[in-house]
Amino acid sequence: MPASPDVAVIGAGIVGCAVAAFLAEAGASVVVVERDDVAAGASGRNSGILQHPMDAALAPLAAETLADYRTLAEHGFGLAAEPDGILVVGHDEPALDREAAVLRAAFPELGAELLPVGQPATVEPALAPDLAAIRLATGHAVPPGSATRAFAARACAAGAEIRTGAAATLAPGGVRAGPGTLAAGAVVVAAGPWTPQLVDPSGAWRPIAQLWGVVCELRLPEPPRHGLEEAGIEGLVGMGGEPDLLFSLVTANGDSGLGSTFLAAEPDPAGLVPLLRERGARFVPALAEARVTGLRACARPRSADGLPLLGRAPGRSDVFVAAGHGPWGMSLGPASARLVADLVLEREAAPPAAFDPARFA
Ligand SMILES: Cc1cc2nc3c(=O)[nH]c(=O)nc-3n(C[C@H](O)[C@H](O)[C@H](O)COP(=O)(O)OP(=O)(O)OC[C@H]3O[C@@H](n4cnc5c(N)ncnc54)[C@H](O)[C@@H]3O)c2cc1C
Repeated sequence: MPASPDVAVIGAGIVGCAVAAFLAEAGASVVVVERDDVAAGASGRNSGILQHPMDAALAPLAAETLADYRTLAEHGFGLAAEPDGILVVGHDEPALDREAAVLRAAFPELGAELLPVGQPATVEPALAPDLAAIRLATGHAVPPGSATRAFAARACAAGAEIRTGAAATLAPGGVRAGPGTLAAGAVVVAAGPWTPQLVDPSGAWRPIAQLWGVVCELRLPEPPRHGLEEAGIEGLVGMGGEPDLLFSLVTANGDSGLGSTFLAAEPDPAGLVPLLRERGARFVPALAEARVTGLRACARPRSADGLPLLGRAPGRSDVFVAAGHGPWGMSLGPASARLVADLVLEREAAPPAAFDPARFA
């Protein structure tokens, strides 16, 4: 580990690994400090779908992120040329019809198309026959931690070091990790929902909250090819008012992930399995019997306005924040990371105002 790298990054999730890769490729010496392991947080425990975030402010980040992911082939991560597609499923066909019209007007690139009651089951035989759906031309299903591990490999190939098993705190002029202090020219805090407590241990600055998700891992005899999402998932970006459980099902390489919860407090994952299964079976009847092979749970870093925090920590010239992507971090993280890397490298003077952490100062 360099005695004093140009940049120390706290957190080896998708954002921290991507920011380390971009900085190291630009010639900076970089050390990533991760308290657990690469992809130990939400970046290894998500549902695994890379998708359009259905938000105009975020859509360019999603498009850039897909392009970033396409550069990772030599690090063991590939994306199909075409998306697997998403079916937004529900029982209320008129409501889905209205939602499809809204999506067509706002995001023509999604090609939102209503599938009337009964038709989804002809497209995806695993679906219940009484469902309608909106088909969207977005959504690549990938194993949950694969993109993060590929970005970690890319960062290391460019000379970055990733130090795992060491919790960090901010220290004057660097970070404190384990017994020692690491002096660094700049620090990027990419610690997901734990970012505010690192930036401001006093507890006064809390623009990012934890939104806990549980996903059941299982194998279905005939898993759907599309990612499936219960209508309503696109409303999860804002604060408050959202349901605490919405069905989703994503299958990558034959492994399906049945989600998910949206809870403020850390749940008992095993206790939620019956609820997830019961909810899921309304949409995919085979879920009632499918054997659960594993569970993953983690907190989404949900910001107070649904947009990430990308830029200098309020009142700090040498500390940058890269966090707060809520339910879309796998779909947006690398583009956000590039934006923060450009700020650290002084290629850009300021972040877009909508993402500036100073909006919560
Ligand atoms: C159930 C669930 C399903 C999801 N599904 C999707 C999806 O399908 N598509 C999508 O786009 N997004 C999805 N998301 C959201 C996405 O996973 C997150 O937005 C994204 O992973 C956040 O990445 P991150 O790098 O900001 O944070 P994290 O992945 O949380 O990484 C932060 C890292 O910081 C480390 N850390 C924390 N504190 C310290 C410290 N003091 N010192 C050192 N290290 C520290 C943690 O151990 C962790 O590894 C989902 C999230 C959940 C929970």
